[in-house]
Amino acid sequence: MGNVLGSKVEGRVILPGQVQYDETRKVWNGAVDRKPGMIVVCELAEDVAAAVKYARERQLSVSIRGGGHHLAGTAVCDDGVMIDLSKMRKVNVEPERKVAHVQGGALLSDIDRETQKFGLAVPTGTVSETGVAGLALNGGLGYLRGKYGLTCDNILGAEMVTAEGEIIRVDKNNHKDLFWAIRGGGGNFGVVTEFKFQLHEVGPEVLALDVMYDYNDAKTILKKTEAYMKQAPDEISINITATTLPPAPFLPDFLHLKQVIMITGMYARDALAGESVIKPLRELADPIVDGTKVMPYVELQSKLDIMVPNHVPVYGTSLYFNGLPDNMIDALLHKIDQAPAPSVLVQLWSMHGEMNRVPADETPFAIRAASFVLLVDFIAMEVPGEICEKWIDSVYDRLLPYSFKKASYLNAVGLGETITKNAFGENYKRLEKVKKKYDPKNLFRHNHNIKPE
Ligand SMILES: Cc1cc2nc3c(=O)[nH]c(=O)nc-3n(C[C@H](O)[C@H](O)[C@H](O)COP(=O)(O)OP(=O)(O)OC[C@H]3O[C@@H](n4cnc5c(N)ncnc54)[C@H](O)[C@@H]3O)c2cc1C
Repeated sequence: MGNVLGSKVEGRVILPGQVQYDETRKVWNGAVDRKPGMIVVCELAEDVAAAVKYARERQLSVSIRGGGHHLAGTAVCDDGVMIDLSKMRKVNVEPERKVAHVQGGALLSDIDRETQKFGLAVPTGTVSETGVAGLALNGGLGYLRGKYGLTCDNILGAEMVTAEGEIIRVDKNNHKDLFWAIRGGGGNFGVVTEFKFQLHEVGPEVLALDVMYDYNDAKTILKKTEAYMKQAPDEISINITATTLPPAPFLPDFLHLKQVIMITGMYARDALAGESVIKPLRELADPIVDGTKVMPYVELQSKLDIMVPNHVPVYGTSLYFNGLPDNMIDALLHKIDQAPAPSVLVQLWSMHGEMNRVPADETPFAIRAASFVLLVDFIAMEVPGEICEKWIDSVYDRLLPYSFKKASYLNAVGLGETITKNAFGENYKRLEKVKKKYDPKNLFRHNHNIKPE
């Protein structure tokens, strides 16, 4: 890499036409096919700094690849420099201090594997192959959100490479403005080469809720779940998923192509006490399958991986809601009925407890008073991408009037100026100021972009 970037560093540079180019530029979403001018596979913060300086001096744009899982495929850009952190996945745990040091290319599985050796966990997401960097920088919703908040709420500090190519430490005493901005403001401000996260006692065995109902009971289930969550303890966070199950070998024949509504979740304390707490969620209607059981936390964290394979084309959108009124539910179910193909995944995730207690201006993540987030994905297998995209847009338009502040979860939605501004709300102005200070030329713009003020 030294020759190309003009400095002596450890990583590798991959150029168009080279053997690994096509494989390395791939991201999770198979609908994304961008061709960077150069891929820098970094191994050290110094490699990242060299790549940033190289791009800045030539006025090239930069995209940052953590785990490559963003729906919009922002980890890869056309023509610019793709900074690939996939070789930077080390995790070091300090069990006594309950902190974890996690490199910027780590996947959720890397964190869980190391932290669970000590019965500890960082609150992250629900699919083990997701990258922690993108997830944490824009929020981070997992089964511990009710008890311990979002991933961004658990960032204690970071090592970052700025747009100037400097390696700096960011925490409550150093670069305070930047410390505020990275806890929800995304990859706008620099490349995080290492996070310092707060750890919590979790597992190693947890009570995992997993009940499948007939989709015909969807309205009843949504109403009852909403009522349940109004008085639910912080320990239980749940995700509701409506979908048509694929005719896949990992499912029994009687479930192939069956339209279902599933409730998954986790009780974040002693499993025995959790049994009675989650009981009502297992009796919302007649279950088709109830797979609720005590299992290792690491197993729960990878249980859904099989449902969301890599490199499949996907179109998606998201909106927050405060409550699920009848007309909103009717509109949503009507849209599902009208989907042009069965390969849609419609999820409503509860938002409550600790994540909602954080004041809306304490971090850039402004949505602290919604009770559900809607995540809709359309896998473009049976119908062309344009049709999927049109349906996704129509779901967004139809549900927007019922939404909370017209805001979407930035980790699960395509790019757009209004989308970005609506998600940050009152915090946007402050983010613009931080952006102007640390990245006035908008080097880091392949993201939900905050324009320098
Ligand atoms: C299968 C699947 C499951 C998911 N499950 C969950 C879930 O349970 N909970 C949840 O909250 N979200 C979930 N998500 C959404 C997820 O949070 C986003 O896709 C997130 O962007 C993933 O991070 P990444 O590092 O893999 O992203 P990437 O695509 O690599 O990066 C996305 C953006 O993040 C920024 N970025 C990435 N790395 C860095 C870095 N080191 N420094 C600075 N900026 C960086 C860049 O702006 C980049 O464009 C899921 C997504 C998928 C595809």
